[in-house]
Amino acid sequence: MSDGDRIVIVGAGVAGLRAAERLRETGFDGEVIIIGDEARRPYHRPMVSKQLVTGTIRPIDAYIKPYIEIDAHWRLGTRVTHVDTKQRTIYLPGGEELWYDGLICATGVYPRHLRGAPRHDPRVRVLRTVEDSIALRRALTTSTKPAVVIGSGLIGCEFAASMRYLGRDVTLVGHAKAPLYRFGPIVAEEVTKIQKEHRVNLAMNSEVRHWISSKEAFGLHLTNNQLVVASCVVLAIGSVPSVDWLRGSGLNIDDGVLCDAYLFAEGADDVVVAGDIAKWPNLRFDDKPRRVEHWMNAVDSGRAAAENLMAGRQAAKPFCPLPRAWSTIYDVRLMTAGLPALGDDTVELSDNITGFLRAGKLVGIAGWNRPRQMLPWMAELERRLPVPDTAPVPVPAPALAPVDTLPDPFEGTDPLKVEEDWLSMPLPESLLREAV
Ligand SMILES: Cc1cc2nc3c(=O)[nH]c(=O)nc-3n(C[C@H](O)[C@H](O)[C@H](O)COP(=O)(O)OP(=O)(O)OC[C@H]3O[C@@H](n4cnc5c(N)ncnc54)[C@H](O)[C@@H]3O)c2cc1C
Repeated sequence: MSDGDRIVIVGAGVAGLRAAERLRETGFDGEVIIIGDEARRPYHRPMVSKQLVTGTIRPIDAYIKPYIEIDAHWRLGTRVTHVDTKQRTIYLPGGEELWYDGLICATGVYPRHLRGAPRHDPRVRVLRTVEDSIALRRALTTSTKPAVVIGSGLIGCEFAASMRYLGRDVTLVGHAKAPLYRFGPIVAEEVTKIQKEHRVNLAMNSEVRHWISSKEAFGLHLTNNQLVVASCVVLAIGSVPSVDWLRGSGLNIDDGVLCDAYLFAEGADDVVVAGDIAKWPNLRFDDKPRRVEHWMNAVDSGRAAAENLMAGRQAAKPFCPLPRAWSTIYDVRLMTAGLPALGDDTVELSDNITGFLRAGKLVGIAGWNRPRQMLPWMAELERRLPVPDTAPVPVPAPALAPVDTLPDPFEGTDPLKVEEDWLSMPLPESLLREAV
């Protein structure tokens, strides 16, 4: 890229913002345009299920302060409808076209809808945006009846804790035999204990059989035969990559945007991908492309994607981070590093720290309420998962097949619309005392 060039970033989340910063840090002096369909500048999305939904901070407090002046042109509240990678042009509503020399795709994911759940009832909500947290708070004020959260993963557990903070009764409904079961038996046991201590009604090994809707409330008939009454229901059952705008672009958008180890989208030389939608092989683990939906990955990949776009395919460096993530449930911090999901077995490494083994090799760790003790284990994990010396040589993109039919710009579903190093995040007082 040279200084007269234009780089367009689609997606004004943390990955897009960190990519813009890195472009400037590496000396790019051309035009940077950031397009985002939310009407807001990038904010701390993890706060949506925690401080924002409880109202302990205002939306304005959640904005991310850029590290440096990025001198970008912001197009907020604007949804990119499609892209022609051959013509290097993106399309905006109203027939507007924008050319680019380099494109950074960072459009994240949107919440999955639960089959059978009412789609247009304001009492059935998801949690991804600031607007979602505002709408949910509004829904909660219409009745004092309990809330129900469907999905016992991280966001579901965090939201249940937030409801208890607000003094609301809440039921957590989940498929698995315990909440957060994928983080191993220790975490599952501890989170079950803490949710019960806070009087969260746990309905595990179950799902909704029938929705009974009345003006006052919902009745949810569960497969474990419980009948739960709720004034509002939150769906926290996972997410779907926001790739509909890339249909017909020639890129592979099967569960995210398929990239090489350098975050270049397969099929185009001037397109890189960052954040929750990037599906790339992290060579620390193997050569299988995967997505990682965590804050630090969005930060790291945003920076790496920008750097590699500037360097070009031939000089690019493989993106091989040690993934790390956190969650706060009540005042307890869950931390993970590596890829626990790859494990086929678990081992207790030390008190409240679980190791995840794949074919006997450590590939991930999860620590419940042990922030300090996690540090040496993270270093150990990093040592055991070295970046290979020989990364595959970047392959120039093949010529794109002609795109016969451009997609209908109005097609597709509308996505519903702290940092950085989690080690430096403020820890709850109770943990600091314990650490000392
Ligand atoms: C409620 C919640 C709590 C979380 N808590 C944690 C946590 O505790 N710890 C942790 O590690 N991670 C957490 N995460 C995950 C973390 O927030 C994400 O991994 C991170 O925000 C991803 O950043 P991103 O920039 O890739 O995507 P996003 O932040 O989703 O940004 C993408 C942006 O692109 C926009 N967009 C989509 N399509 C288009 C289009 N066609 N045109 C223009 N714009 C478009 C989207 O609306 C969005 O604004 C949480 C996520 C949620 C939802």
